[in-house]
Amino acid sequence: MEENICPKCGAPLAEITETPTGRKIQRCSKGFWNPETKKSEGCEYVKWLVVEPKELDEKCPKCGAPLLLSITRFGKKMKKCSKGGWDKETKKATGCDYVEWINGTKEDLNELCPDCGAKLVLFTTSSGKKMKKCSTAGWDKEAKRATGCTYIEWLKPGEYSSAGEEFLPPEIN
Ligand SMILES: [Zn+2]
Ligand SMILES: [Zn+2]
Ligand SMILES: [Zn+2]
Repeated sequence: MEENICPKCGAPLAEITETPTGRKIQRCSKGFWNPETKKSEGCEYVKWLVVEPKELDEKCPKCGAPLLLSITRFGKKMKKCSKGGWDKETKKATGCDYVEWINGTKEDLNELCPDCGAKLVLFTTSSGKKMKKCSTAGWDKEAKRATGCTYIEWLKPGEYSSAGEEFLPPEIN
């Protein structure tokens, strides 16, 4: 299959863009995002690109190897030891298992917004504060105002502990 041709309509793909969560996508040049209707228009083909882990200027506290910054398929960021790996056959992590999740992340919750009934998401700010926010909430960059539902509930420290993050194996091409 041609790399830069849309498999749906055969048009060339547009330039690679980065999402707010740091993931990279490439849209079909015949499709675009309409911020007014919040819908894709035209061809809706989107190719998600694997983001290469970035080497950080930090050392693993366990073994001293450089740390890598990687982004999971849900857009969460974590620091991982570069000596860590994933054994596809045994489905086990290999090497150094040091992982540190980075704050400023967002998790889907199984709770509904008391105002509008949409799903809530849990936001963790970079300072480690947590809040529940309605998933329909957004930010209109041009009008500089919040859009969608404005429900926010700040959590007191310790009120919500993220119980055991699911460890995701690195994405394999
Ligand atoms: Zn297309
Ligand atoms: Zn390590
Ligand atoms: Zn809501």
